[in-house]
Amino acid sequence: MPDSQRCGAKTRKGGSCRSPTVHGKRRRRMHGGAAGSGAPKENENALKDGLFTKEAIEARKHLRELLQQSRRLLQKIQ
Ligand SMILES: [Zn+2]
Repeated sequence: MPDSQRCGAKTRKGGSCRSPTVHGKRRRRMHGGAAGSGAPKENENALKDGLFTKEAIEARKHLRELLQQSRRLLQKIQ
């Protein structure tokens, strides 16, 4: 895991926590990264712009695939 993957929670001394994060989370276990904590994936309770809804994520994925296909096609033509 790279050095950038540090917990980063604010400590009482004013610095930030240097401990590595829980796998797949942005905080270590003691700082909110415990299993089952936080909102579930694709939770829409605090929906703002819909950028991370299941539909939006899938639409971007689909668009990405289309772009890849057209790039491959262009390479074949050249
Ligand atoms: Zn921490």
